[in-house]
Amino acid sequence: PACIFCQIAARDIPSTAVFADDELYVFPDIHPQAPVHLLIIPKEHILRSVADMAESQTGLLGRMVFRAKLLAEEQGIADQGYRLVFNVRHHGGQEVDHVHLHLLGGQVLGSLVG
Ligand code: 5GP
Ligand code: ZN
Repeated sequence: PACIFCQIAARDIPSTAVFADDELYVFPDIHPQAPVHLLIIPKEHILRSVADMAESQTGLLGRMVFRAKLLAEEQGIADQGYRLVFNVRHHGGQEVDHVHLHLLGGQVLGSLVG
């Protein structure tokens, strides 16, 4: 497949698997913006962006958020806090059109909206 995240989930492009199950794959961002910067993706290319989400996909997106919460605990950043980011399309800064959730933490994060 041409999609880089499909190739990562399929292990055609190497990455460190931080978590994997039947549905989700989690790996470190290649250009980390914080001490912890993980990307949580569905293994299958079933959704490009939150902007394309159907109501039937709320379960999937909810499991992505819940996995981020569990990984934040595992990474030791939950107590001090972290940020979850979905960049959406061009103005949102989305560069990879395979839906993904950023988990960022390990330091005080600058904010656009805080
Ligand atoms: P976006 O801007 O689309 O929300 O985020 C895409 C993220 O994917 C970026 O933070 C970028 O650093 C990361 N990324 C792009 N290509 C690769 C890659 O080949 N490997 C890994 N691990 N991360 C990548
Ligand atoms: Zn894909």
